[in-house]
Amino acid sequence: MSCVFCRIARGDIPAEIIAREDGAVAFLDVAPLADGHVLVVPEAHVARLEDLAPDDARTLFQTVVRLSGPVRDGLGADGTTIGVNNGAATGQTVPHVHVHIVPRRHGDGAGSIHSIFPGGSRRDVAEVGDAIRAELALG
Ligand code: AMP
Ligand code: ZN
Repeated sequence: MSCVFCRIARGDIPAEIIAREDGAVAFLDVAPLADGHVLVVPEAHVARLEDLAPDDARTLFQTVVRLSGPVRDGLGADGTTIGVNNGAATGQTVPHVHVHIVPRRHGDGAGSIHSIFPGGSRRDVAEVGDAIRAELALG
């Protein structure tokens, strides 16, 4: 298994570990967007968020919730941007689910998640709602 996050989760390669849970591990990003940039990953090798088993998803997000305050306060920051690149089209470079927690400060010059999307015309919201609800109904 050559997946870098599986190897970190198993302890086979070094990382600055922040927390270990039964099912998830958190460590510092090797190329941080800001000091204190943490990645939280499930121990299970799953590429996309929607493929996580319910227990792994629960542990992953419980860990994100538990760490978000300490990551902010440990760095003396004002907030955190928390995000997931979910699929190659989004810029995901490591195909093992990971949640980014990045400390943010007032006036740090970085944008909100809205800033990564261009504007443009949009489909009718009711039609879009129907499309998603139809997929949801397929279970
Ligand atoms: P993404 O673009 O969402 O797939 O993010 C992958 C992240 O993993 C990037 O921010 C990388 O800097 C980070 N990364 C890659 N390899 C390592 C590693 N060995 N240890 C810590 N972080 C890593
Ligand atoms: Zn993996």
